[in-house]
Amino acid sequence: MCASETHTGSKALARMEVVEGDITRMAVDAIVNAANSSLLGGGGVDGAIHRAAGPELLAECRTLGGCPTGEARITGAYRLPATYVIHTVGPVWQGGDRGEAELLAACYHNSLEQARQKGVRTIAFPAISCGVYRYPVMEAARIAVREVREFLERHALPETVYLVCFGPEVCRAYRRALEEIQEGR
Ligand code: ADP
Repeated sequence: MCASETHTGSKALARMEVVEGDITRMAVDAIVNAANSSLLGGGGVDGAIHRAAGPELLAECRTLGGCPTGEARITGAYRLPATYVIHTVGPVWQGGDRGEAELLAACYHNSLEQARQKGVRTIAFPAISCGVYRYPVMEAARIAVREVREFLERHALPETVYLVCFGPEVCRAYRRALEEIQEGR
């Protein structure tokens, strides 16, 4: 287990918090969905988000015509406590030499950019690609923390980014990644 929140040192890092829990319950302006490229629902966090949002979410997703890996699309959040869902498609881990790191970084960057354009102040991310897509969790955590920090250094919005861990392994990885970045490693 890890503490419910992790506050960090520098200015951009102080706007990033690690929380353990279910992203569908977060009352933030936007939650990010680790979707598949059809945007028509799936298992894991995607299934949980669609179940909690209700069928209107799927109806809106059908109008979007899918989303390529690394990109992001924004919809309403319907019955969720959030205002928006930002759907992004993480890479499937294939050993690391198929551009997975760049694609995962793009998911974070493009989701944050979609959020910024809507004036989103608070946003919650799941550990994109760390479930069915099998991305090594520690490597994914380093990419998440680095991309989010870079974005926050350049932009005032979103104000706060929650990295939501579903279980202690992801939580530990985020905490370690934050420590490494704080120590300049
Ligand atoms: P991907 O296909 O991108 O790997 P998954 O949904 O399989 O997506 O897993 C991504 C991460 O989301 C995993 O760490 C998984 O444990 C986590 N997850 C699953 N359900 C939830 C939830 N309700 N809230 C937050 N995270 C979740």
